This record gives sequence, C-alpha cells and structure tokens, in this order.
Amino acid sequence: MTDLTGGSTLPQERRVVTPIPGPKSRELQARRSSAVAAGVGSTLPVFAARAGGGVMEDVDGNSFIDFGSGIAVTSVGASAEAVVRRASAQLADFTHTCFMVTPYEGYVAVCEQLAELTPGDHAKKSALFNSGAEAVENAVKIARAYTKRQAVVVFDHGYHGRTNLTMALTSKNMPYKNGFGPFAPEVYRVPVAYGYRWPTGPENCGAEASAQAIDQIRKQVGADNVAAIIIEPVLGEGGFIEPAKGFLPALARFAADNGIVFVADEIQSGFCRTGEWFACEDEGIVPDLITTAKGIAGGLPLAAVTGRAEIMDAAHAGGLGGTYGGNPVACAAALGAIETMRELDLVGRARHIGSVMKGRLSAMQEKFDIIGDVRGRGAMIAIELVKSGTKDPNPEATAALAKACHQQGLLVLTCGTYGNVLRFLPPLVIGDELLTEGLDIIEGALAEV
Ligand SMILES: *Cc1c(COP(=O)(O)O)cnc(C)c1O
Repeated sequence: MTDLTGGSTLPQERRVVTPIPGPKSRELQARRSSAVAAGVGSTLPVFAARAGGGVMEDVDGNSFIDFGSGIAVTSVGASAEAVVRRASAQLADFTHTCFMVTPYEGYVAVCEQLAELTPGDHAKKSALFNSGAEAVENAVKIARAYTKRQAVVVFDHGYHGRTNLTMALTSKNMPYKNGFGPFAPEVYRVPVAYGYRWPTGPENCGAEASAQAIDQIRKQVGADNVAAIIIEPVLGEGGFIEPAKGFLPALARFAADNGIVFVADEIQSGFCRTGEWFACEDEGIVPDLITTAKGIAGGLPLAAVTGRAEIMDAAHAGGLGGTYGGNPVACAAALGAIETMRELDLVGRARHIGSVMKGRLSAMQEKFDIIGDVRGRGAMIAIELVKSGTKDPNPEATAALAKACHQQGLLVLTCGTYGNVLRFLPPLVIGDELLTEGLDIIEGALAEV
C-alpha cells in the first residue's frame, strides 16, 4: 500500500452539481423527519453515498472535501483498504460470539496494540467497549474499584459523552444536558488552562490555572476522596482548547502524589490526530488510564480503556464488559486502521497537515479580525471567532462561515462552549491539493461573512 488515500478508489475531487442539499437529499430528509427522532441532529443534511480518502460523495453526486472525518473517526479514510479487507474477512468468518462467552484472537491483538502504542513502558492491560462514553464510564468504574474512593474531577469545557454519568462529566448544558437530569453524583468541575481567555494572559495561564484547580480539589473535594481526574489532553467539543503548557504535568503530578488515577480522555485527540499517537505525549504525560474510541477502528464502533495492569485488574471478574464490547468485526477494522497508520506514517502526515493549516490560518488571522485565535495541533486545528476588536464570542459568524463552506462543498464542523469555534479534522490521508482547496474556500467564506 503506497498511495496516500489509504486505498480509496473514489475520485479525490470537490464537485458541486446541485444546490446543497440536492433533490435526493431533500427527499430523504423528508422521510427522515417523519421516522427519526428530532433529538438526533445533523450538521449538514446531505445524505452520504460513498466516502474515502479526503472526500464524501452524496446521493446527488456532489463530492465534499471532508474536514470533519465524521468527528475525528475516519482518520485513515472512510473506506481504507486494510480496514475493508480485514473487516470483510472477519464478517465472512463470524460476526459475533460475545467475548464474554467465547473469546477470539482479534480482541487480544487490539489490546496488545494498545499496550504497545499508548505512552509508558509499564505493564498495561485493556478492556474494549462500543462507544467513547462507555469507555469513560468504565474508566470511572475501574478507578473507583482500584482506589476505593468515589469522587471524580473534571474540567470546565470538558466533554465526555451523553450517557448519564458522562453527561455529569460534561461541562456544556445545551445541547448535551438540558432537561436530562438528575445527573450522577460525586462529580466535581474545576478550571482548565484556556490560554486565550485566561484573565491574566496565556503566559501565566498554565501555572495559575493548575494552582486554582488543585486548590479547589483540596478545599472542595479533599484529595483523599478523589478516585480519578479525567481530562482531554486537547479539549474537543469544548473548543479545541490546548491546556496551556505546564497545566497537564502539574495535574498529573498532583494525581500521582495523592493516589488519584489520572485518566487521559484521548477519544478525539488520539490515534495520530494531533501529530503524535496520543496528544498527552506532547508534554511527556504518562496517564494511568487512557480512553480511546473515534479514530481507533476506521469508522467501526470500538472503544477502549487501557492502563496500568494493577489498576485495570482491580475490577472483579464479570464487573466489566457488555454484549458487543470488542466486536470481532470492529477489532479486525481496528487492526486494519492501525496497520494503515503505521504504513502511511499518519503521525507525520498529521504534523504536515497541521503546519499547512496553521500557516494559512495564521495569515488569514492577520487579514480578518474576527479570527481571535488559531490553535490546535496536527490535524486537530480550529479558529475561534469573535466580534471585531473584542474577545466577545461570535457564534453567528461561525454558523454563517460553516454554512458558506457547506454550500461550496467543504464539510466543516463547529464546536466550543460558546459555539464560536470552527474546527478542522480532515482525514489524515487527505491529499495536499484538497487540503489547500479547502483552505481557499475558508478564506473566501471569511471575506464574504
Ligand atoms: C466523542 C467523545 C466522547 C464520547 O464518545 P461517543 O463514542 O460519542 O460516546 C468522549 N470523550 C471525548 C473527548 C469525545 O470527543
């Protein structure tokens, strides 16, 4: 396998042949409206027909440049050759036995890969699940079983999922939590080092924010009561916030000194996305537990908790698992995705994407004063949009920009506590021409807005 697309046979081009959404998508949207619950939203109501490499083709024949990867999932592309080959072979052999009934090799092989790829050379074990939220819930179960403590500390702007416990862990009310309570108890939220919005400026942010967070944990929770500190090494839904330097190491040290399990939620930032296998490597953090999902399996539903063997083994036999956790087809897909990441050096590719994007976006920031901040690492890059001459969030411009991009065949996503962050998560196998064309569209849309 040498071509960059991960083996996609789709033409790698942008093509807009109908109004967006086109007539077939509008027809499907009408059926959807009467059959699908309103609570399940969509960023862009065009219906997918095929996807691969750096493009997504809809049912009307439009081909979108993909700057979303289905929310950081299809890092190897949405039809990577090794993923399709291995998953298809597994489908033909057997679809399911339930690992808790009769095990199979693929599950073990994925856990071996996770032990090898995640930071730290200590003995590691893993357990596999279906979704990111499920992985985070299980990390909490494991940390509580190991520490015999109950409290869980999370951060402002954090996102950890939509199940009951992970809603409690998630910071943002609308749309994730509003009306869905009561939430799980023993969850405590502390400040995060958000450099762009730190009152005394980004230089002081890491030290001041970590001191505040640790002080709050000590005073309001009690270090001895804390089972786990859970943080995204780059915060995803909260706005692609890279905690200011020094913040993560200070919290990891505090956790180690106080017998607290330090959990890195790498569900969005992991698997090459930020230009490292895992984002916590940037500051040399070795988490006790790490949660992964999204990019792990080339689009199939799979998630994992990986960590120190003695912590992972603290839960009693039968205490972890689930009917589908570590489904054999998803495991085969994960092995194909990991093979693709290694063979195409997608860590290096993510860094290249990051340098191209940050170069172009920083130049745009000079020209357009609604771009307050350009940030992120690797292929996890965002711009934070503000009202001209202020730091006031500008969600209206953000929505308008996203819409303008969609109309021109560029799929982009928004995020952020204030809804004012435009985020870019291209597949790591996207070609340079599509990447540049996508950035040109963003620049054009900024001029328009
Ligand atoms: C997406 C996400 C989750 C939840 O994953 P699901 O598979 O949607 O349950 C948890 N944590 C982070 C950081 C995420 O980005």
